[in-house]
Amino acid sequence: MPKKTSDFSRPKGTRDFLPEEMAKRRSVEETMRSVFEDFGYGEVETPVFEHLELITAKSGEEIKAHLYHFKDKSSRDLTLRPELTAPVMRLYLEALTHAPKPVKLYYFGDCFRYEEPQSGRYREFRQAGVELIGSPNPEAEAEVICVAVSALERLGLKDFRVSIGEVGVLRTLLESGGIHKEAHASVMNAIDKGVDVRKTLDGLGMQKDMEELLLTILELRGGKEALHTALELIEKTGIDLGDARAKINRLEETLRLLDVMGFEYSLDLGIARGLDYYTGMVFEIYAEGLGAQKQICGGGTYSLTEILDGEPAPTCGFAFGFDRIILALESQGKLAAPEKERLLVVATGEDMVGEAMRIASIIRRKRGCEVELMRRKLVKALAYANNMGYQRVVIVGGEELAKGCVVLRNMGKGEQKEVRIEDLGGPL
Ligand code: AMP
Repeated sequence: MPKKTSDFSRPKGTRDFLPEEMAKRRSVEETMRSVFEDFGYGEVETPVFEHLELITAKSGEEIKAHLYHFKDKSSRDLTLRPELTAPVMRLYLEALTHAPKPVKLYYFGDCFRYEEPQSGRYREFRQAGVELIGSPNPEAEAEVICVAVSALERLGLKDFRVSIGEVGVLRTLLESGGIHKEAHASVMNAIDKGVDVRKTLDGLGMQKDMEELLLTILELRGGKEALHTALELIEKTGIDLGDARAKINRLEETLRLLDVMGFEYSLDLGIARGLDYYTGMVFEIYAEGLGAQKQICGGGTYSLTEILDGEPAPTCGFAFGFDRIILALESQGKLAAPEKERLLVVATGEDMVGEAMRIASIIRRKRGCEVELMRRKLVKALAYANNMGYQRVVIVGGEELAKGCVVLRNMGKGEQKEVRIEDLGGPL
C-alpha cells in the first residue's frame, strides 16, 4: 500500500464541539453576555487576524514564539490574535476616542497561541472579557472585578477565589533597585511564572536591600493588613520610593469599594501578570479542581493606548478563559444545556409528506418544529421521538386532515388528542 501522506485529522491543540456541547457553551456565553450587558457594556467584534506589530508592540518580540504569524500574499506580517485586549484597544483608537467616557466594551472571541497543549491549555481557545476605558478612578477597578465575579456567580460557579495584586509597586521597587525599565519584563515574567526570582534579580545586579524588600513584598498575602505591612516595609528603608505609597493607598481604596459591595478577595502582592502594559492593580481568579490550569480569569489596570501611538487613556479590564470556565462548571456539575421544547411532525405515509411539510410551516409561524425526514413508519417514528426527547409529536394522517385536524401526542403522558390545524399556533 502506498504510504499515507495526507492528514485529515484535527490540528494539535484544537477541538471540535458537538451540538450538545455547543448548546452548553452557548448557554454559558449567553449568561456572561447578560451580565456584561446588565453593567452597560456594549459588544464589539474584531478580526481574527491583526498586524503582527499590534501584538509585538505591547508584548515584545519574544511573543512571536507563541504566535501563529505569517505573511499574506502582499507580504504583510500578520498574526492570528493571541488575545483580545490589544485588538479592542486598537478598535477604540480607530473608532471610539471621541465617545463620552467611560467607554465600556465587551467581547467574545477565539484566540490562538502556539503552546504545548494539555488539559485546559489549547492552541485555539476562547476568551470573553471587558475593557473599561477612560476612568482613572478606583471605582472603575472595583467595577471591573465586580463584573467578573458577578458573571461567575450567575453561572453558579462555586469554589473560586479572587487574588489581587499591584504591579506598579513592584515596578517602582525594581526601578529604585537600579533595574532598567527594559529588564522589568524578564523579572515580571519570572514572578508570573513562579520561577526563581532571586536568581533572575541576581543576574541583573539589583541593589541587595531593595532585592530583599522586593522578595519579602512578593510573599505578602492576606487581607488589607498585608498592604499595611508592605507600606511599613517600604517606609523602613528610608528610601524615597516614588509613587509606591500612593499606589498602595490607591489599591486600598479599590479594596474598600469591594468590601462595600460585599466581595471576597485575598491580596497577593506576588501577582505580576507577565505582560508589560499593566500599571497598577492586577487580579486573577482561580477555580478549584482544574489542576495546573486553574486560572480562569486575568486582568487589571493598564495603559496600552500610548504604546499604540494614541493619547493616554486609563483602562481596566479582564479576560475570562472561557474553556476553563466550562471545565470548572462541568467538574462542579453546573453545566447544563437549556431545556428545549421539541415538536416533531410525522406523516403517516408517503402520500402525507407534503401535508406534513405544509403543517410544519403553519406551526413555525408561532413556534419551532421539525419534520420527520427518514420516512419511518409511525410506530418507529414515535419510538424515535421518544428516544430523542421530543415532548410532542404532530401526526399528520388523511382521516384527521379531512376534518382540518391533526393528532397531537404528548410523549411524556402518552396521551393523544385531535387538534384543529389553526389551533397549532396556540398553547398546546
Ligand atoms: P491572558 O490573556 O494570558 O491573561 O489569559 C486570560 C485567560 O485566558 C487565562 O486566565 C486563562 O484562563 C485563559 N487562557 C490563556 N491561555 C490559554 C490557553 N492556551 N488555553 C486555554 N485558556 C487559556
